[in-house]
Amino acid sequence: MSDLPKVLLLGAGGFIGANLTERLLAEGRHRVTAVDIDGEKLEGQLGHAHLSFHRQDIRDRDGSLEELVRDHDLVVDLVAMANPSLYVTNPLDVFHLNFTENLRIVEHCVQHSKRIVQFSTCEVYGRTVAGVLGEDPAERPCPFHEDSSPLIMGPVRNHRWIYASAKQLLERVLHAYGLEDRLDYTIVRPFNFIGPRIDYLPSEKSGNPRVFSHFMNALLYGTPMKLVDGGRSYRAYTHIDDAVEAIVRIVDNPGGVCRREIFNIGTPENETSIRGLAHLMRELFDEHFRCPGDPVPEIVEVSGEEFYGRGYEDCDRRIPDVSKARDLLGWGSRHDLRSVVLETMRYFVDRHRRRAES
Ligand code: UDP
Repeated sequence: MSDLPKVLLLGAGGFIGANLTERLLAEGRHRVTAVDIDGEKLEGQLGHAHLSFHRQDIRDRDGSLEELVRDHDLVVDLVAMANPSLYVTNPLDVFHLNFTENLRIVEHCVQHSKRIVQFSTCEVYGRTVAGVLGEDPAERPCPFHEDSSPLIMGPVRNHRWIYASAKQLLERVLHAYGLEDRLDYTIVRPFNFIGPRIDYLPSEKSGNPRVFSHFMNALLYGTPMKLVDGGRSYRAYTHIDDAVEAIVRIVDNPGGVCRREIFNIGTPENETSIRGLAHLMRELFDEHFRCPGDPVPEIVEVSGEEFYGRGYEDCDRRIPDVSKARDLLGWGSRHDLRSVVLETMRYFVDRHRRRAES
């Protein structure tokens, strides 16, 4: 057991981290040190012989983070505040966690010559060019390619772009260390992963989670499904199991193919408008989960400012070009939109019913 590679998973308690931890432990080829301020999503894994869980805030300045980096073979950095509502309400916290604190992790990796798998975001692509010019959404140029697409943000006063900008700058710092041959890194740009353990429902705790949880909450409680600015933006959703499969291949890094590469991980075929997602979820809920007599939520429109506050601006369309992941990792998604949406809904419904019974 002591010969297994040691992976330090920072931010392991989040949606991606918890699913990745579970998969790495199930495969039994790694020893995992999971670090997070919250271990709730890891509950099923705690006690596993190959897992050590540290309930720790990576912002602590007690030297323990550097020691952890020094003592592992590979660092996977998932530490992030990745929620559009927070970009609008807490822009400085978003900047400091997503840039300043992540930069410390990167610098520890440089110092101790450790490979890092750095999670970034598809938000670095920003908006499509045509989206800025206000042309027809259907004509907007996509998909985005890791090494050739421009990164286009809105004006500074629309401060939601602080997250995308922080992540973009972090990527550029990694690239610069690579240019000086001081860091072995791989950057992952996730495109809207969904599945079991994603987010919380807005009825469960305060905050403003991502769209899937809002729609799910509306379906479970019969409240309106709100389409921000008409739900005209597009997203392409990826099943977390498909995403984790890609991430494990990146962790394994066969023949060093991932060295200093950026990978889009996403499912271009699973594109839908947000309006389309609302209708699909309502239809699937009706087909699979609605109890007789339960209300059918209406679909209403709200403005971005009303929903998020001032400083919001949407990413109009994001489709990944995944040819690099296919060519270098032999990876492709297996779940279509309907099945990933249904499975994620089932997770919420089951959880909701269990809670209601207890
Ligand atoms: N959105 C919506 N209704 C909601 C929550 C979000 O129409 O209740 C929209 C939001 O404006 C964006 C899309 O759904 O166009 C996806 O937002 P999400 O919060 O899931 O995060 P993102 O994909 O932008 O990271």
